[in-house]
Amino acid sequence: MMTLTPTLEMTVAKVDMVRLELALQGQLILPGDPEYDAARAVWNGMIDRYPALIARCETTQDVVTAVNFARQHDLLLSVRGGGHNVAGHATNDGGLVIDLSPLKQVVVDPERRTVRVGGGVTLGELDAATQQYGLALPTGVVSETGIAGLTLGGGFGWMRNKYGLTCDNLLAAEVVTADGRVLHTSERQNSDLFWGLRGGGGNFGIVTEFEFQAYPLGPEVMQVAVFHDGEAMGEVLRHFRDFCATAPDEISLLAVCGVFPPGAEMFPAELHGRHFVALIGVYIGAAAEGERVLQPLRNFRQPLFDVSSRLPYVTAQTFFDEDYPAGEMRYYWKSLNLTTLDDAAIDTLVEHARRQPAAHSTTDIWYNGGAIQRMDDAAMAFHGRHVNFVINPEANWEHPAEDEENIAWVRDFLAAMQPYSDGSRYLNFPGFQEEGDDMMRTAFASKYDKLVALKRKYDPTNLFSLNQNIKPG
Ligand SMILES: Cc1cc2nc3c(=O)[nH]c(=O)nc-3n(C[C@H](O)[C@H](O)[C@H](O)COP(=O)(O)OP(=O)(O)OC[C@H]3O[C@@H](n4cnc5c(N)ncnc54)[C@H](O)[C@@H]3O)c2cc1C
Repeated sequence: MMTLTPTLEMTVAKVDMVRLELALQGQLILPGDPEYDAARAVWNGMIDRYPALIARCETTQDVVTAVNFARQHDLLLSVRGGGHNVAGHATNDGGLVIDLSPLKQVVVDPERRTVRVGGGVTLGELDAATQQYGLALPTGVVSETGIAGLTLGGGFGWMRNKYGLTCDNLLAAEVVTADGRVLHTSERQNSDLFWGLRGGGGNFGIVTEFEFQAYPLGPEVMQVAVFHDGEAMGEVLRHFRDFCATAPDEISLLAVCGVFPPGAEMFPAELHGRHFVALIGVYIGAAAEGERVLQPLRNFRQPLFDVSSRLPYVTAQTFFDEDYPAGEMRYYWKSLNLTTLDDAAIDTLVEHARRQPAAHSTTDIWYNGGAIQRMDDAAMAFHGRHVNFVINPEANWEHPAEDEENIAWVRDFLAAMQPYSDGSRYLNFPGFQEEGDDMMRTAFASKYDKLVALKRKYDPTNLFSLNQNIKPG
């Protein structure tokens, strides 16, 4: 029995709701339904929103139906891939959520080494399917993240310097546009739209299916994970910088500064509460070769401990999973592209990293080079290939009373790093996008005007507004 919220009754006639429910092959979830609370929840525990309708789409036609409904009824519209956007754009108050989570198909073509992937697939599901054929594609480093949002914003993972970002490996996409058309996009078909999808976020339509290039890898890989005393943070970060300058493309290193969280069983009890700096990466090639190439990183200084090992690629892809429980913690992550990581930048970084108020927070520094920088920058919307280092302080805490100091830590940190940056940032770590248009202009630099023109062409009324939003002007 369908029950309507008062807000929705004002905008949508009950008969239209029933029509929508009948037209969908998937489920329409409403406030009061047993699944409602689980369906409206997203990864960031800070986000607590109450949409009026959640359309669980099982087919492309369901997505068309839901898009047309949102447009015709002038509803606020969210699109949910994996629900991992930090700002919580996958849900909203009082509007419609198009939930793609039933779109789970992963079809591997082992001969062409390509993979077709539904808009609701997570990285773990994708890796599990491709590894059955000895293949993998560049994605991210936490298995529960959605492939959709990750790809549309870029995609940093362990394979990035060898094979590029996730968006670099996108071959084609099926898209439902704001006017309800289904368009096939690639470098040859609707190529302007394809250009925008590769880094331009969810602005131009809803991707129901992605097609990617994949590469032989695994099943076993070599992972390096060495943890040093936080007292040596500056020294280790200098080594990280210098190592990356000559590292082969097979290793895309990540430096992580943090605190051994009290109670964390993975770490010896005597370390709990102490600062650390860790160097973590996966060798993208034969495990034995990886062991040899990564040994110098393990020999540097005396680490507090070294959990480097050979392991299945799918396990390496879950290394951080436990650190990011869905719905339980509060998260505020923001990034800055660094145009230099000189000693002064490292000193500033260390000073702020050591001030993190919450034990579960970290400061991540991504090294981007190799294939990322060999790509033709004009080939797609993604902006950021000009920098080698991206800093991402991530505040992860538990109690609402601590919101202010944790958010302030990230903001003060990035303000202090500004002299070492051109102000651009990686939009998959966008904070709450509180800078609005200013952030988008700086983030896309010279590509911004082309994105606005594309938005005007494909979504002139900004139906797709809950994303890293480009306004149509
Ligand atoms: C725990 C965690 C780990 C992460 N690790 C990495 C990492 O290793 N590398 C990295 O690069 N990033 C990483 N990220 C950032 C991640 O790429 C972004 O949060 C991304 O937006 C997540 O995508 P999603 O589909 O899960 O999110 P959602 O919240 O579902 O969607 C994100 C945005 O994309 C839009 N969108 C979603 N699906 C579609 C679609 N099919 N068509 C059109 N628009 C769509 C949404 O409207 C929203 O604006 C991580 C994030 C988290 C929370």
